[in-house]
Amino acid sequence: MSNGEFLRVFIPDRYPFAMKSLAARHHLQIGIICRLEIDLTSCKQSADLDSNRPKNAGYNIRLSLIIQPASHGAPLPRIVIADDDDDIRSIVELGLNAFGFEVFAAPDGEEGLRLVREKKPDAVVLDLMMPKIHGFAVCQAIRNDPQLKGLFIVVGSAKAYAADIKKVKTLGANIYLQKPYDLQVLADTLRAGISQIPASATAAAQVSAPPKKPAQEVSIPTTPENSLLQVKFWGTRGSIATPGRQTLRYGGNTSCVEVRSGNSILLFDCGTGVREAGMGMLREFQKQPLPIHLFVSHTHWDHIQGFPFFTPAYIPGNKLSIYSLHGTDKSLERIFTGQMDSTYFPVDLTDMMAEFKFIELEGPVQIGDTTVRHVYLNHPGVALGFRVEHAGKSVVYVTDHEPYYRLLGDNDSSHKLDHEIDEFARGADLYIREAQYTEEEYPSHRSWGHGTWKDALNSAHAAKVRRLFLYHHDPMHDDESIDRIVESCRTYMRENGMTFECYAAGDQEMVSL
Ligand SMILES: [Zn+2]
Ligand SMILES: [Zn+2]
Repeated sequence: MSNGEFLRVFIPDRYPFAMKSLAARHHLQIGIICRLEIDLTSCKQSADLDSNRPKNAGYNIRLSLIIQPASHGAPLPRIVIADDDDDIRSIVELGLNAFGFEVFAAPDGEEGLRLVREKKPDAVVLDLMMPKIHGFAVCQAIRNDPQLKGLFIVVGSAKAYAADIKKVKTLGANIYLQKPYDLQVLADTLRAGISQIPASATAAAQVSAPPKKPAQEVSIPTTPENSLLQVKFWGTRGSIATPGRQTLRYGGNTSCVEVRSGNSILLFDCGTGVREAGMGMLREFQKQPLPIHLFVSHTHWDHIQGFPFFTPAYIPGNKLSIYSLHGTDKSLERIFTGQMDSTYFPVDLTDMMAEFKFIELEGPVQIGDTTVRHVYLNHPGVALGFRVEHAGKSVVYVTDHEPYYRLLGDNDSSHKLDHEIDEFARGADLYIREAQYTEEEYPSHRSWGHGTWKDALNSAHAAKVRRLFLYHHDPMHDDESIDRIVESCRTYMRENGMTFECYAAGDQEMVSL
């Protein structure tokens, strides 16, 4: 046999799905290196034993024969991989095992960090968008831990934004790899990276994982009796506020949506629209103390700029819970405090008299009988979409999202990621979805982290939602161009048999579910 020969080999029972689907989806040629001859023999024996399986039930694997010198008992290089994609995690684990690494796998960032501290690996392979602690924060935590000095960090992601690549390198990652992985490249990268590290540098003492604040339940009834979901748009513009005569009908305030859910007040983003949301609450409740739950998709200006003007935050007795993720390099609280630094604003965050709680999300949040779940979006930095469920009704808020296929190409890998967003919106009564550009405008804004109205329609159709509201209007779109977009949407829907309702969201508009 020679290098690169194709063989039909036996794949252990716990791997076939991952192996098959990954190979098929990404057209990967899985490089399995049999390190020692005996491994190869066992492969062949396994294939013979597999005679009960139907013909063609095996998987064609490119078996690169590289007979490596025996290790003479030297320990294998140790790798921790943290990735929430079951297929990718399994295939990397299997592949790196075959390449001669000892691999420890974790399905989220918290477990990944724990394994790094416990197993003292030589290198770590981090996904960026994973549950509990995202890859940016894990990378930063590793680099801030003197016990983990010198650990070789590979960050891999389907995200391809230059800003993210720059950020992970600033945080101390050694290499950024685009997913899906080429296992040969990954193995070579790890080997090269590890060999440059002095052995003593990886001897880390055991350190227990840092305590993480769990998402907390806060529920104090205040709103009028109402068991339905009520949605009010306070700001529907993207990027920058656009007041003026050309935007009178749809409005010019940036992102902010209020959802009244049973007895709870939920806000999504605090762009310039949140100022009027606050004024509305004062008119309605006067001095009654309010619990307010503010979910922040991400902390780009157009989503937080109204916060210093949110009057309820200045009123003693009000309780303000602010939910989002740990930033790429600083805590959520520090981001909000920084925005009100005296360089930028005359009033300090500590001058706001409401009671604040900053909650970095790790999972679903339960507020009374309302559940809020989140999903990662494709946008530079960390950005979230939210889904509110209450009394059988649901609202999904997905803004600042560029469909993966736009950047990664039309392939199974990008479709899977786009499908996850559609699944998140599955059956929503109201789908608030960004539609910043037209198809004509998109090419000159590619990789800015936004999509088009067609993307919104296709996602709404795939998710079988009841109503779609186009959101995050481009600052260049005046009322008339938004009307034209809605007209184009209706034509596209007719031509493609789409039956949900479709509107463009406008400031101050209210929807009851
Ligand atoms: Zn935005
Ligand atoms: Zn943004």
